[in-house]
Amino acid sequence: MKKHLSSLFVGILVASLVVGPMAAAADLTADVVVIGAGGAGVSAANYAADRGARVILLEKMPFPGGASLLAAGNLTAAGTKLQEKLGVEAPAGEFQRQLEEEAVFPYDAELVRVHAERSGEALNFMIDLGVEFWPELMELPYRHKTVDPNTARFIKFALDAFKSKGGEVLLRTRATELIMDNGSIAGVKASASDGREMVIGTKAVVIATGDFSANQSMMSDEYKNALGFGPVSSTGDGILMAQAVGAATVNMDKAVFFGNAVEVSPGQAGFSWGRSLCDLGAIYVNSDGMRFSKDVMNSAECAQAMHDQEVQGKAIWVVFDEAIKNDLHAKDFPTLVTVWDPETEAKEIEKGEHIIKADDIGALARRMGVAPEKLQETIDNYAQYVKDGQDPEFNRPSFARAIAEGPYYAMRQRIGIYPTIGGLCIDTKARVLDDGGQPIPGLYAAGDVAGGVSTNGRDTLIPAMVYGMIAGEEAAGLAR
Ligand SMILES: Cc1cc2nc3c(=O)[nH]c(=O)nc-3n(C[C@H](O)[C@H](O)[C@H](O)COP(=O)(O)OP(=O)(O)OC[C@H]3O[C@@H](n4cnc5c(N)ncnc54)[C@H](O)[C@@H]3O)c2cc1C
Repeated sequence: MKKHLSSLFVGILVASLVVGPMAAAADLTADVVVIGAGGAGVSAANYAADRGARVILLEKMPFPGGASLLAAGNLTAAGTKLQEKLGVEAPAGEFQRQLEEEAVFPYDAELVRVHAERSGEALNFMIDLGVEFWPELMELPYRHKTVDPNTARFIKFALDAFKSKGGEVLLRTRATELIMDNGSIAGVKASASDGREMVIGTKAVVIATGDFSANQSMMSDEYKNALGFGPVSSTGDGILMAQAVGAATVNMDKAVFFGNAVEVSPGQAGFSWGRSLCDLGAIYVNSDGMRFSKDVMNSAECAQAMHDQEVQGKAIWVVFDEAIKNDLHAKDFPTLVTVWDPETEAKEIEKGEHIIKADDIGALARRMGVAPEKLQETIDNYAQYVKDGQDPEFNRPSFARAIAEGPYYAMRQRIGIYPTIGGLCIDTKARVLDDGGQPIPGLYAAGDVAGGVSTNGRDTLIPAMVYGMIAGEEAAGLAR
């Protein structure tokens, strides 16, 4: 017993010695460190600074914003200044009910309630910063739309406001590890812009690092081959850092997926016009050289059909000829993939990795890795269906033209995901919970990095901001 106590004492002494020099050796100190300058992070940083906290905001990229730079500005909220001005009743309780009715993923009803209750405040925060909204609602009573095509200016305005309150922003600074002292947050390790490791001493950390759609190693088997539709910064760092100090996660195998993705850079998805090509006469075939769907589908049907093939380990191609390609261009789609310009497309065709061009079906099939006779049979059958105006296999609803004259094309189609739905378990105070459901002292999370908030994977910027605001308030309160 005596030996046990003395080793316990030595343990405590060692722990305090370790913590003491660490705190003394900290390169910087802050009341609150926020990791990630997206919508959740800039909201947390402002709310904490408003409450008198000394805040440092870390951002690993050379520019702030993450997915929040790309958000299309479709924002749902209850109790906004615009709704008030228009005399539109938008009760938070009703909003919560609607969110729960639209649920596709498991969620925590309390987290949804708080999101609904403070959604108006989040949108008003944007308005007060100077973000402009169209004067009418897009959909009654909750859907607002920014005048800008995206929310990049929200990030700029929020960061300007934060800096004017004395807040410090460190770009190109990647948080790498949480430092603990007796089970509580004591600091953050980060790799600075010059590659140096730095330590920031703090008692409160807000993790706002976004989702993990750009990190295939964190995907469940179902999405192992999926490409990321979100930003390249979405590598799940915050989840990994928090898990290392005992945080629990939820819904890690869930994601929103889309079809018609093409790999435009390693692991990253770009939208192709595969669906439009099918409207104009193209067909989808799998690696067996066979059709697997009615080709002409809405985006949800298309995503599901492609997902089903990918789960079976089959590659998917959209196959068409020069005439169909020309029809697409004539409809004001200059390229086959939204983010390609004609020059990039020409290079991609030459490379032949994501899009293959060949003078005859046999050559096309061989480069696709498909049996030539099978692909020929599929294209011949389809030509007959076009002639008959009837598709006995899949009941294709419309036939623009057959795949007739070469050159022929096959464009590889993949599943793209964004956002991943899973993340850190939090409570309504944005506190990160451990496996026992207990808050980890000093650790908060908000935005796409947190799980259990979004019921349907849509309109996720306002809830990111709501929990960012709450995390900022709570973290500043802890520091006082
Ligand atoms: C194309 C697109 C359109 C969208 N449209 C809408 C829409 O119309 N309406 C809507 O409500 N939602 C929309 N969304 C979703 C919305 O943008 C996100 O839910 C929201 O922006 C998430 O905010 P966040 O702060 O959690 O993450 P992010 O905005 O992704 O921010 C995370 C930040 O953390 C940084 N980071 C990550 N790891 C580290 C680290 N280790 N150290 C330091 N920094 C780190 C990242 O670089 C990034 O800047 C859209 C998303 C996309 C991709």
